[in-house]
Amino acid sequence: MKEKKFIHLCQPDSGKSCGACCGLYNYADSTRESLVERLRNRTRIFCETVKERADLKAFSDRIKKLEPSRKLYEVIYCCEYIGFLDEEEKRVGCLLHPLRNDGVDMRDVSFYGKELCDGHLCPSYHFISCEEKLSMIRIIDDWYLYGLCITDIDLVKEYFRFISEGIYEAPRPDRFEGRLRDIALNFFSLKISWPFRSTDTNRFGKYYFDGSQYMISHIDYDDLGCERSKFDKIFLSLTSKFRTLEELRKGEEIIRENIEEFIACYKADAM
Ligand code: SF4
Ligand code: SF4
Repeated sequence: MKEKKFIHLCQPDSGKSCGACCGLYNYADSTRESLVERLRNRTRIFCETVKERADLKAFSDRIKKLEPSRKLYEVIYCCEYIGFLDEEEKRVGCLLHPLRNDGVDMRDVSFYGKELCDGHLCPSYHFISCEEKLSMIRIIDDWYLYGLCITDIDLVKEYFRFISEGIYEAPRPDRFEGRLRDIALNFFSLKISWPFRSTDTNRFGKYYFDGSQYMISHIDYDDLGCERSKFDKIFLSLTSKFRTLEELRKGEEIIRENIEEFIACYKADAM
């Protein structure tokens, strides 16, 4: 049997990467602007001050003192060693990685330790199909959006399910270019621009933290006076909170329009 190619979701290409499991999005202020400033500063300080392993303690202490430390979820660690890997600030990643330090691996000083940092493959590696992974890598070329979306299994699987149902096949990854890529990118960009995003500070996608553990959030359709939406999983991934039925319908329209546009464009292209 032909072996499936391993697709590196963490560092897929020179245009983006993911740092979600290093706690990147777990700061209370995880806006792009705030994270860019944080990563830029610590990368600069790391380059200026860390010449050998013995310098790491001082680096860590300085970063912890300097940066705002308020987190979304207290139980999730935010690692101080994630920074930018390139001058263009397109890729986020581990400042302790051997590829960045002339072959010297310094991840053993970190909170998770070298073994975990080196060997961890998040659930997206297992649940997102090979074609979906390759498609996502083609669709998104922006570390901030990429990390938010590639770790959101429901969002990815649901979008590909809806468009596949409409075109009667799984879209080939190489179809994601030009207009089709733009439409798909518009969909995934909703992760940042969704108008019905909850402002609750303990929410992240479908999860919320009740003070001691994660819980799965839900939309109260009884309260809104309607049936469960077929876009329920997408809504939860987008951290939705609908105050009225009208808002819910508007949300459905935004998703439906995108999916229909994709399907029409895909079919037209295939002719
Ligand atoms: S969350 Fe997944 S894709 Fe992102 S850095 Fe971690 S293991 Fe890689
Ligand atoms: S030390 Fe581990 S958790 Fe920290 S940035 Fe590196 S890989 Fe991520």
